[in-house]
Amino acid sequence: MSDSCLSSTVVNSSDSSMLWHARLGHSSSSTMNKLSQLHCNSSQSDHIKHCGVCPLAKQSRLPFPISSSRESIPFSIIHIDLWGAYRVSTHSGHRYFLTIVDDHSRMTWVYLLRFKNDAIVVLKQFIAYVQTHFSVSVKTIRSDNGSEFFNTEGKEFFSSKGIVHQSSCVHTPQQNGVAERKHQHLLNVARALKFQSSVPIKFWGECILTACYLINRLPSSVLGWKSPFEMFYHKVPNLSHLRVFGCLCYATMLNDSDKFHARAIPSIFMGYSIVQKGYLLFNIKSRKFFVSRDVVFHEQIFPFQKSDSVVPLFPLSTNIVDSDCDFLHIPVVQDDCTSVEQVDPNLVSPNVSPMSHIESPPVSPVSPISPITQTLSTSFIDSQLRS
Ligand SMILES: [Zn+2]
Repeated sequence: MSDSCLSSTVVNSSDSSMLWHARLGHSSSSTMNKLSQLHCNSSQSDHIKHCGVCPLAKQSRLPFPISSSRESIPFSIIHIDLWGAYRVSTHSGHRYFLTIVDDHSRMTWVYLLRFKNDAIVVLKQFIAYVQTHFSVSVKTIRSDNGSEFFNTEGKEFFSSKGIVHQSSCVHTPQQNGVAERKHQHLLNVARALKFQSSVPIKFWGECILTACYLINRLPSSVLGWKSPFEMFYHKVPNLSHLRVFGCLCYATMLNDSDKFHARAIPSIFMGYSIVQKGYLLFNIKSRKFFVSRDVVFHEQIFPFQKSDSVVPLFPLSTNIVDSDCDFLHIPVVQDDCTSVEQVDPNLVSPNVSPMSHIESPPVSPVSPISPITQTLSTSFIDSQLRS
């Protein structure tokens, strides 16, 4: 997404370290101190110690040494891992996500999947895209011993492309350290996004995709405090468009000819779209996802939070927020939220692709291939690489 094209306004929030801590998916103080755009010093980032979300979300690191050795060429080695099946499907029916990490840049791509067998399909298309658009061949793929990559289709594909498939020892998936650690990081950030916003669990896909979007833009000690984005694109990512996940926002309606219609749509901020240039929003009234470029954010209000359990993420600076809510009668969205329109987040979410122009074929209930993989095309990967 081109950051400069977005029109957004932050209402009732100061540019405090705590606000940026929330926008960045509850990143550590050491990471925030490395972001020169934030002008955050160590005394300011001390406030993060009192964050109530971090202790709920973060898990200790894996007891395996961090390898700092990296390939010098992008896509020479990629690390892959499949997570799932999760006990709860997303609102679009996804139960897995496939993570692909470029060894050189640590740039990460996440794909939500309905079925385990979809992993090899997505991987084949990712490799084909890299070959066509970057004129480089993936030489080595590292994974754990997951059967999803060792089936006949996978073996034949790797063999035909001359790709070496390295796997970790049986029962020691930690040897697939890069992908394992990336999974843990993704899940830590995704949990923080969920706890901060109280979004229902069926929105875990949006949490994971947003976590990936943020992690790609955060500096890492493994990269000499550069971000994967900077390693991959050779430029520092702009963070000025980042907002607090799950907060209340209003999308401006630009083309309504009725002078007495509402001029904004109350929505919930659910991530960053790269399909279109804009924010991914969830319409509170219609319960449909849409993308908007003109958005006013209320980053201290989380519509999915139950009113009796609201603990402000950071102190409310004025009382305009409350009066604004009273005036507009913002509904508190119930946790069961069964009427969510089935939208494939891969179509609209931050790390996946521009297939909005492609008709999805009808879904057969017995088909092992989900609509997402049936409609995958080169443009599927394209948007992710272009970011
Ligand atoms: Zn935190």
